[in-house]
Amino acid sequence: MTDLLRPPAATPTDTNERSRTGLSAEALRRGIVDHLRYSVGRPAAALRPEHFYRATALAVRDRMQDNRVASTQTSLDLGRKVTCYLSAEFLMGPQLGSNVLNLGIEDAARAALEGLGVGYDEVLACEEEPGLGNGGLGRLAACYLDSLATLERPTIGYGIRYEFGIFDQEIHDGWQVEKTDNWLANGNPWEIAKPDVHYPVNWGGHTEFYSDDAGNQRVRWIPGRVIEGVAYDTPIQGYGVNTCNVLTLWSARAVQSFALDAFNTGDYYKAVEEEVTSETVTKVLYPNDELEAGKHLRLLQQYFFVSCSLQHVLHIMDDLADASVHDLPERFALQLNDTHPSIGVAELMRLLVDERRLDWNDAWAITVATFGYTNHTLLPEALEKWPLGMFGACLPRHLEIIYEINSRFLDEVRAKFPGDEDRVRRMSIIGEEGGKSVKMAYLATVGSHAINGVAALHSELLKDSVLKDFFEMWPERFSNKTNGVTPRRFLALSNPGLRGLLDRTIGDGWLTHLDRLRGLESFIEDPAFRQQWRDVKRANKARLADFVRASTGVELDPTWMFDIQVKRIHEYKRQHLNVLNIVTQYLRLKQNPRLELAPRAFIFGGKAAPGYFLAKRIIKLINAVGDMINFDPDVNRFMKVAFVPNFNVQNAHLIYPAANLSEQISTAGKEASGTGNMKFMMNGALTIGTLDGANVEIREEAGAENFFLFGLTEDQVQQIKRDGYRPADHIAANAELASVLDLIAGGHFSHGDTEVFRPLVDNLRYDDPFLVLADYASYVECQDRVSAAWQDRDAWSRMSILNTARSGKFSSDRAIAEYCDEIWNVSPVTVKVER
Ligand SMILES: *Cc1c(COP(=O)(O)O)cnc(C)c1O
Repeated sequence: MTDLLRPPAATPTDTNERSRTGLSAEALRRGIVDHLRYSVGRPAAALRPEHFYRATALAVRDRMQDNRVASTQTSLDLGRKVTCYLSAEFLMGPQLGSNVLNLGIEDAARAALEGLGVGYDEVLACEEEPGLGNGGLGRLAACYLDSLATLERPTIGYGIRYEFGIFDQEIHDGWQVEKTDNWLANGNPWEIAKPDVHYPVNWGGHTEFYSDDAGNQRVRWIPGRVIEGVAYDTPIQGYGVNTCNVLTLWSARAVQSFALDAFNTGDYYKAVEEEVTSETVTKVLYPNDELEAGKHLRLLQQYFFVSCSLQHVLHIMDDLADASVHDLPERFALQLNDTHPSIGVAELMRLLVDERRLDWNDAWAITVATFGYTNHTLLPEALEKWPLGMFGACLPRHLEIIYEINSRFLDEVRAKFPGDEDRVRRMSIIGEEGGKSVKMAYLATVGSHAINGVAALHSELLKDSVLKDFFEMWPERFSNKTNGVTPRRFLALSNPGLRGLLDRTIGDGWLTHLDRLRGLESFIEDPAFRQQWRDVKRANKARLADFVRASTGVELDPTWMFDIQVKRIHEYKRQHLNVLNIVTQYLRLKQNPRLELAPRAFIFGGKAAPGYFLAKRIIKLINAVGDMINFDPDVNRFMKVAFVPNFNVQNAHLIYPAANLSEQISTAGKEASGTGNMKFMMNGALTIGTLDGANVEIREEAGAENFFLFGLTEDQVQQIKRDGYRPADHIAANAELASVLDLIAGGHFSHGDTEVFRPLVDNLRYDDPFLVLADYASYVECQDRVSAAWQDRDAWSRMSILNTARSGKFSSDRAIAEYCDEIWNVSPVTVKVER
């Protein structure tokens, strides 16, 4: 080991390639060795893989820095418009593999580490992923950053540097147990702390009128407290380009002067306490689907990161020689990822009117021209509303500003729809029903020039439900931007076997032009190609089976169909519908010993919000049914059930590529888009799904004959809700369903305990807004078609190839190109770097 770390004698090429920037294996090796010595600071004899990980990450980060500096300089020099993606969540996943891929130095990294006697994959596995998001929404933000950099669009991602990300999930006795995610415990080699980039954030207190020097009436906010936000920057490298953007995450710290005040009065402990409370602002990511709890701190988190981000943007504007704050919409596009950052509309108005002393009308024109809003949900419980009293106590100035925005806006409504006071009442940003509240989706809509949904169906539903009145007011502001996922991470990085086969078959242009996967269609009749296709899938399934064995003890046979549902656990996603089918198949096998089923592994994964009672029971049910089935020799020849603990981006890399069947079975109208559905499709899984979210478009692209469709349509769901949903009718009409429910309720899977699953079964029988039983018969019938289709290996392979071949639309590059052209009006900037 000592020898390996000794710098090699210089050769002519070494001197040309600096150890901080050189892209060859040798230069990278020297960079790693330098970091082992000067950054990790461990003696050679004590080096473990995690030390190599840290040194490699730092060496790779070094290689992005020249790109990073050149990217900022180029867009400043050229005066090009910058996109700011404001998101309370970024579910980035492991960074090393992705950065190495995007820099084009995979072979060099492998060779460099091998030269040091350590395996590349072993080093990759050491990374603790930053879990700064709950699921799809946060992962979408991360995919979009990858595409923005790859498409050479200057971008800043703005978010929160949570000290504890989404909890780690363990399964004890079938139940979810939450463990804090201490992702920063071993440091974070990707971020660069910028202690000099900091902004004050006010909170609470009251407002005062005063006259400025010119005698104008103005408002001053006297805060109850001030917290300081500090920037931490993570580089975002584009694939195959020099563009390297940045993700700026804000961390809270106590304002020094406040502490000094306390010191001056001798109250040392008060000063320390201040520090403690300030820092709690960015302490922990809240799980979504969580009721009431932590409302106060959540609003503070949102305001905190948005205020820091907008102050930062205005600071950059101030430094531009050729622009004033009036040019903001020409220089920055601010995108709101859901309503979490929507307080930005009022905050930008405050910064422009109170602090920059702009005229209200000018400030409002700037604000609307700069913001865009992406809606992510129609679920009423997920539409953010803040109780008015609480909001006013926390953000007194913003409440005044929102009243003013609202009053001017409602005048506009009256002008456009004279005499329609009912409409005016409906559209008010201040809600009246159930206690007064501030409706954030309305604030975001009124304050944005562009509003979009995230799949075709979702955007349509948005226009005729939640935002119907707003669509009638401003139809031209509404559009659809169907989500996408990055093929770099979700194909190239996570499915190296398929990547190799694709490269050999159609070349590697698909990495940036995913439409080129269409080229696969001409190979579906080639038996040798189909065999290679199956070999790749088989190897991926073996890889997942190893992981499942290690993490759950369940043995899966990679020759079986892998039927996978991974996503947050939620009633609307209907993991329990999947379980009802499993129990149905189980009953059939038990009742008919001669029955032969196409053997299947049912694989689940996903976290439940810690306070979501039914979701946690669904996890317990999956595990209980699994424990029964996996050990019963009558059935375990045909079926197994596994719940993979702690679904996250890292294990998603193993899961999506191993699927034969993708479960996308939400109640029609409830899943805005889904992105997991796209990752499965790219990796050659067939979908069993409802006409919901992007499933509709997946089916359109794949062809109806290559998609397993079941269930009610959104229209039918609405009709049933109007008529009154009667689950008892579905039970009465289906003896199999009745026995399945009785079996679960009767304690068959819970050692005779009839209480543990009662709330779940009662919910399905009497009180289920997601109509599980209404879709049961259709789902089971569809699953039987899936089993029949699986028996024809070649037909299945053709369908699988066609799904991948036709998944091009679901690249985040396509989605981002649409945002750039139709909402942000930003164009590519080619970055040149001297090496
Ligand atoms: C893609 C992804 C999701 C979103 O999955 P859906 O099926 O769209 O809900 C959630 N979590 C992780 C880790 C993901 O990679």
